[in-house]
Amino acid sequence: MGYQRPVPYSRSTSWAAHRRRNPPSSEPGIDMFCPIGTPVLAAESGRVADTGDSIGPATGRFVTIDLDDGRRVRYLHLKSRTVSVGNRVRRGQVVGYSGATGYGEEDWSWNVAETGGAHVHMTLWPLHWYVFGSNGTLDPEPYFDADGVAASESAKPIPKRRAPMNYIRITGKAGERRGGTYAVFAASDGTYVAEFVGDSGPDNLVELNDEGQIGRLQNIIRGLR
Ligand SMILES: [Zn+2]
Repeated sequence: MGYQRPVPYSRSTSWAAHRRRNPPSSEPGIDMFCPIGTPVLAAESGRVADTGDSIGPATGRFVTIDLDDGRRVRYLHLKSRTVSVGNRVRRGQVVGYSGATGYGEEDWSWNVAETGGAHVHMTLWPLHWYVFGSNGTLDPEPYFDADGVAASESAKPIPKRRAPMNYIRITGKAGERRGGTYAVFAASDGTYVAEFVGDSGPDNLVELNDEGQIGRLQNIIRGLR
């Protein structure tokens, strides 16, 4: 079963479009256009990790949930929230109500030319921390249920993941394209899989810049580049 879409909508702005903006969105996600006051539903079960109640920042009011599958989701521009940090939430639970808050405004939905109208912005991160920048987030679209708003048993299941066993940052040599941080997971078949998580990471990650060492790890960890 895929993720629950947070709100019903027929018009949206894609993750790719957020990344194409000039300047690019600092947390590319999907804008789902819906009337102010629409209940916002949790994508999956998890724990509320962060909330924001100020309309000052671009985010407006928001709710961040650390999902039980290891990913993190955040809903922006809310009119209000119904959960607090530390609360457990279940899939489909109402976590707030949609709005058009942020940039110091309680309701910017009148400015359709610039904002597109009232919407919920959903950001998805691969792990339980914030990574900002155009390469820091995942496109939520493939993770949703196939049929849109309602839950569907026919949707492709999301593989349940174990917590990452380690984090590796490949620093490489100056001028090389390589770089970034990977979470390393133990796969069920005994191999290891690396998942790119962006530019930053936790304090205790392993930094690698030795070409020989990187090459040896690439032989045993799939997805490490
Ligand atoms: Zn957005």
